Amino acid sequence: LHALRRVLGSRPALSDVQVMNRVKVTTSDLRLAMTEVKPSAMREVAIDVPKVRWSDIGGMEEVKLALKQAVDWPLRHPEAFIRLGITPPRGVLLYGPPGCSKTMIAKALANESQLNFLSIKGPELLSKYVGESERAVREVFRKARTVAPSIIFFDEIDALAVARGSSHAGGVGDRVLAQLLTEMDGIEQLKDVTVLAATNRPDMIDKALMRPGRLDRVIFVPLPDAETRRQIFTLQFRNMPIHPSLHLEDLVTRTERYSGAEITAVCREAALQALQENIAAEHVTDTHFLAALDAVTPRIPQSLLQAYEKYQREHGGARA
Ligand code: ADP
Repeated sequence: LHALRRVLGSRPALSDVQVMNRVKVTTSDLRLAMTEVKPSAMREVAIDVPKVRWSDIGGMEEVKLALKQAVDWPLRHPEAFIRLGITPPRGVLLYGPPGCSKTMIAKALANESQLNFLSIKGPELLSKYVGESERAVREVFRKARTVAPSIIFFDEIDALAVARGSSHAGGVGDRVLAQLLTEMDGIEQLKDVTVLAATNRPDMIDKALMRPGRLDRVIFVPLPDAETRRQIFTLQFRNMPIHPSLHLEDLVTRTERYSGAEITAVCREAALQALQENIAAEHVTDTHFLAALDAVTPRIPQSLLQAYEKYQREHGGARA
């Protein structure tokens, strides 16, 4: 239809035979068509290909690289892994404080590597009806295999894979976990499907899920360091008119212990302060940012950060 429209669009007065002779379907027609017609296997679980790009994520270079190595390379260059005699990781667990870009990174990975991306939030799969949750897990993996190469992303996986025996929902958790393990162990079938999971609470996840061949690569996504904070501010300032006298370095120093999400919140708050002062404001200044820093304080408790450090010592993932 695209090819036809192109011919008819340029010369509406052609006869049928002339049209027939001129129409040629080109690669670009097919490409356009593929943006309109989506594989039906993806319909139920698919989210639109996320719009996040690597360049939208400030800093976190080591995390980005580790993920590309773990997910993108094995799917793109399987022969290289065979040549060197290693098996690529089957699954990757991202853990770290909330609001530090785990979800964003997963989305960017899917977008940039152009893999089919199935995104599931842990709690969504839980159902109180017997057998429903397991069926949902089976279904997710079946779909992923159909549309391979693909990534399954389990956000908040701690909701699904709590350590056995600790769930109170009548054993739903235990059954879901068992199903998850079965699916991940389906060695042959899981070719070209990578499981990516994210959690704020790695200590709550059942150890069985972390064995080799399952979520065998563990990556810590830390609070943003100074360089990352600088970049997040710079990304925010792309769309925000900043007074030339603003001290970026000062902001970077003052936002130690802030998560990425909190830094974005600080910027929004500063802009609101500027508007509150004067609805016709054209710039956001240092004063507004100082007020915003008072209003938005880092919320991640020290105890949680210590828990990550402890987990890091015990399970690796120290350097991403
Ligand atoms: P998580 O999944 O770790 O809880 P998200 O990926 O949902 O965190 O991040 C929440 C928000 O914080 C993002 O939507 C983004 O606006 C902001 N953010 C966090 N880290 C960064 C970063 N490194 N660069 C740019 N924005 C970030």
